[in-house]
Amino acid sequence: MDLILFGPPGAGKGTQAKRLTEMLSIPQISTGDMMRAERAIGSELGKKFDHFMSQGLLVPDDLVLSLFAQRLAQDDAKSGAIFDGYPRTATQAEALDDLLKSRERKIEKVVSIEVPLEEMIERAVGRRSCQDCGHVYHLRYNPPPSPDVCGACSGSLVQRKDDTEETVRTRFDEYLAKTAPLLDYYGKRNLVVPVNGVGELDLVTTRIKEAIGVS
Ligand SMILES: [Zn+2]
Repeated sequence: MDLILFGPPGAGKGTQAKRLTEMLSIPQISTGDMMRAERAIGSELGKKFDHFMSQGLLVPDDLVLSLFAQRLAQDDAKSGAIFDGYPRTATQAEALDDLLKSRERKIEKVVSIEVPLEEMIERAVGRRSCQDCGHVYHLRYNPPPSPDVCGACSGSLVQRKDDTEETVRTRFDEYLAKTAPLLDYYGKRNLVVPVNGVGELDLVTTRIKEAIGVS
């Protein structure tokens, strides 16, 4: 099954993607990771990426698609993949469709994890992490023994600089603006399945499974 997973930053998309890869035995295909890997091994494709990325330029779509073509041909991706970070535009979505079609595949579902802005703000402003061991707490949902002391190592708890209401709002708006054309593109083909992202991780996973018809 070829899938796309959307969700605002901080909605737990990464965790859910990881669970889906295990459940469905398909890889998550992240353009960023793959491009970095090609550059690191110095492949022909990697050198081309280098040319653009070292100048801070966007890598042209045809190069990204060559990378996908390579990746989709590998054994673990033959029965499907979860696309991460691509497509970002309707034009890229069309190109991905063409590539999949040439392999008799298609995007079967576009899962959109939805979390209301108010909830995203509450999650962020209550988050505290330990300076020493990195343990993450939430003042309401997973409270430390005392508001500024880590229960695991007695280190001090700090609030990350970008865990503010303003940052969350900005990122949320950016996310909505960025995904709107894609949700529209896939929505016209009835591929978008909204999933309520509020609640325990297991509950959200169950909802995703139901939404994509996997038990
Ligand atoms: Zn700690």
